[in-house]
Amino acid sequence: MDLFEYQARDLFEKYDVPVLQGLIADTPEEAAAAAAKIGGTVVVKAQVKAGGRGKAGGVKLAHSPEEAATAAEAILQLTIKGHKVNRVMIAQGASIAKEYYFSVLLDRSNRTFLSLCSVEGGMEIEQLAVERPDALAKIAVDAIEGIDLAKAKEIALAGGFDQEIADKVAPVFVKLYEVFVKEDATLVEVNPLILSNSGEIIALDGKVSLDDNAEFRHERENLERDELDPLEAKAKEADLNYVKLDGEVGIIGNGAGLVMSTLDVVAYAGARHGGVKPANFLDIGGGASAEVMAAGLDVILGDPQVKSVFVNVFGGITACDAVANGIVGALNTLGSSASKPLVVRLDGNNVAEGRRILAEANHPLVTVVDTMDEAADKAAELANR
Ligand code: GDP
Ligand code: MN
Repeated sequence: MDLFEYQARDLFEKYDVPVLQGLIADTPEEAAAAAAKIGGTVVVKAQVKAGGRGKAGGVKLAHSPEEAATAAEAILQLTIKGHKVNRVMIAQGASIAKEYYFSVLLDRSNRTFLSLCSVEGGMEIEQLAVERPDALAKIAVDAIEGIDLAKAKEIALAGGFDQEIADKVAPVFVKLYEVFVKEDATLVEVNPLILSNSGEIIALDGKVSLDDNAEFRHERENLERDELDPLEAKAKEADLNYVKLDGEVGIIGNGAGLVMSTLDVVAYAGARHGGVKPANFLDIGGGASAEVMAAGLDVILGDPQVKSVFVNVFGGITACDAVANGIVGALNTLGSSASKPLVVRLDGNNVAEGRRILAEANHPLVTVVDTMDEAADKAAELANR
């Protein structure tokens, strides 16, 4: 789970990472009150789980409570990279001399932790990595040894800091690593970490992702969650593993491995058919009953981007005839709300009977195709019509 910036700020404060005062506000009035409480120049910052808020107009300086209210009013109307702004943070203003970058994250492919560091912070790190790759140090961090003061200095020097500033930022890196480990995070990123005009190191913007699998080890106060997409909420209610993607071919499969390979074959086939792509990931799991199938189809057909659906099921304990009955039953349940073509590929336990049931039902929206590649091709073709 990703945290909002203000949650990351609160977490940093708990570990003595230097941060500035920050208060949240949901209305311009609350923003004015928070600005009055903090006093002086403040920064009004959109609270959305997306980077690049500055560029999108989501970070504004305000010199009075009135200005803070005006800024909050504007920012609360924004949608940044698809995330609606419902809340702002009013932060104490900083006078910035330099902007730096520091992060520590889980490096899955190398089975280690990794620290990224640059004396050239502020801009989005993806951009820095492309434009000035040499300016971004990538230092592996051993999970047992972690980041002590010596390692922190090594990271800072590799990131281009001079010795004097390296000595100043290193203790902050150590504390950020403590946040990373003790909170079971998969990412702790500070961009920018600043040097203020009065010579202090301050974490001005933090991004933290927590490992959901470790949540049982923590007693966190009710963390505000992102508003779920309505389709994701519906899927969650039906206990389905659903992830919305950006394409046109809806995908239903049983088992995460099969669904993932289905995404691949659809992406390949899509390249031959106008570049159509998978619209989602939906794993209905082992029990492909009529109810589960209906719930899955209901979710996918509710996505206006979907043009065709590929149902790819391998019969195991739930045999193909049960799945076929599930599909037929689901289409009957959904009636006229099922309005997009379905390509079905069944294989595995009792496949002949499954195909017979679908052939007999002879539903006008359903095309049965024997192999996965051909089915993907057909689904992509239908989505491209
Ligand atoms: P992001 O665009 O979502 O990464 O949001 P940030 O919180 O990193 O803010 C973007 C930029 O706004 C920073 O890189 C700073 O240049 C600037 N900024 C943020 N807070 C302050 C502040 O307190 N004072 C000043 N002068 N600039 C700030
Ligand atoms: Mn930032």
